[in-house]
Amino acid sequence: MAKTFKNFIGGQWVAPMTGEYYENRNPATWSELIGRFPSSGPKDVEQAVRSAIRSFALWKKTPAPARGDVLRRVGDVLTARKEEIARAMTREMGKVLAETRGDIQEGIDTAYYAASEGRRLFGHTVPSELRSKWAMSFRRPIGVAGIITPFNFPMAIPTWKIFPALLCGNSVVFKPSADVPHTGTLLVEVLLEAGLPPEVIQLVHGRGRAVGNAIVNHPKVPLISFTGSTETGAKLGEICGRMHKRLSLEMGGKNAMIVMDDADLELALDGVLWGAFGTTGQRCTATSRLLLHRKIHDRFLRMLVDRVERLRLGDGLLPTTDVGPMINEAARENTQHYVDIGLGEGAEVLTGGRKGRGARLAQGWFYQPTVLGGVKAGMRVEQEEIFGPVLSVVRIGSLDEAIRVNNGVKFGLSSSLYTRDVRAAFRAMEEIDAGITYINAPTIGAEAHLPFGGVKETGNGHREGGWEVYHFFSETKVIYVDYSGTLQRAQIDNYGE
Ligand code: NAD
Repeated sequence: MAKTFKNFIGGQWVAPMTGEYYENRNPATWSELIGRFPSSGPKDVEQAVRSAIRSFALWKKTPAPARGDVLRRVGDVLTARKEEIARAMTREMGKVLAETRGDIQEGIDTAYYAASEGRRLFGHTVPSELRSKWAMSFRRPIGVAGIITPFNFPMAIPTWKIFPALLCGNSVVFKPSADVPHTGTLLVEVLLEAGLPPEVIQLVHGRGRAVGNAIVNHPKVPLISFTGSTETGAKLGEICGRMHKRLSLEMGGKNAMIVMDDADLELALDGVLWGAFGTTGQRCTATSRLLLHRKIHDRFLRMLVDRVERLRLGDGLLPTTDVGPMINEAARENTQHYVDIGLGEGAEVLTGGRKGRGARLAQGWFYQPTVLGGVKAGMRVEQEEIFGPVLSVVRIGSLDEAIRVNNGVKFGLSSSLYTRDVRAAFRAMEEIDAGITYINAPTIGAEAHLPFGGVKETGNGHREGGWEVYHFFSETKVIYVDYSGTLQRAQIDNYGE
């Protein structure tokens, strides 16, 4: 019989106060039940926040290097359990093992980065404009951090948020996507195994509308870090704006790869296959648009379609699989819906365009890797995030046009240019409106120690990863120490004379 899982609240694994559970099934084989997980409600969130407030009082006083030591051990435990968790993750959300291993490696890298940040967390010491006076700043923890994450990187994205939040001295209430509760549970197990004081982390499973909404609306949760769709992010923005909360949003994308006529086409081909169909196209940074220079358009498309048709769809646990299933039926239906929209707009399905077929694929949410040709700038399949294995191909005549088309969408997360012309590369770096631009590499492949995030409707100005996320999870406090023994008035008394 499948296991019934619990929340982690108040330092213990506990049943939800609602008494309700939902089933989590393998998207490659529906008949396989992974477990029953809590459908929690606002009362569970209330308990979690109370416990997190208690633990914050102690954790914030733990020296940052000691907090960093805990995160170093988290990296060690994740390393030791990498294979086991990767298999569980593939079983839970479908992407192939190489990718779930990479997802955990991102978490390991993030843990070691956080550990080292425990000995930095730099403030500034600057000269004062007055005599016998010191001016400096340091970083303080904020309080209870509400962490709300999507399904597609079930380990990496929670670690991008939880590890810096903890390192900065905050306590955490974590709500993973209801599609990946098992991986979320394993992450909490790892944190506890590494020696995190139990009440510093709370795990509340359940639906966004019930649990996520209760966390965001809770008056004692002053900071929220969210990754997910632009629609959900907009709702959170309204609530947090009204309640004066600090909010980090990482949302949708419609990322383009530009291939110029001087590009190394074989290199670009490997790049677009990985960018468009890795994680079955369900990456915020997925290559969703391919802008091909007219001189290489037809040749490159022939090369591309040939390779896409050889991609093997299947269970991500099998070594023969290139592309796994989609996360659930709604995601697959949405993908089909967009392909139909594209056809209605005058695009052409060059390969794919339908659900996975055959007995081997009958039990899962498979969708064929799809290339849409004849797409024009402005069509919905060129403008809107599909979040599935669908690549929209647009013919362009120049770098100017490519940059214009690239920038003509409401999102701005990742981007890519293949060229051998260094002038074109630098122009793209400067002129493409996106948080990330890759040169001669696909739109995916962020590294843990660099800031990550997007512009326009992809984000709200914050960054994850690297050094910048530590600014989000801590508050700058400024200190002035005047040892002159007299009243010195800034801006009025000239340099203390
Ligand atoms: P989603 O918005 O449906 O859900 C994300 C999380 O928000 C889940 O935990 C969900 O339960 C919760 N949620 C839903 N409604 C809520 C509400 N009303 N209040 C509070 N929480 C709520 O997104 P998803 O389908 O899990 O993920 C796909 C989306 O995430 C895509 O749009 C993708 O581009 C985006 N994404 C962005 C990044 C990035 O860094 N920019 C990374 C990964 C995914």
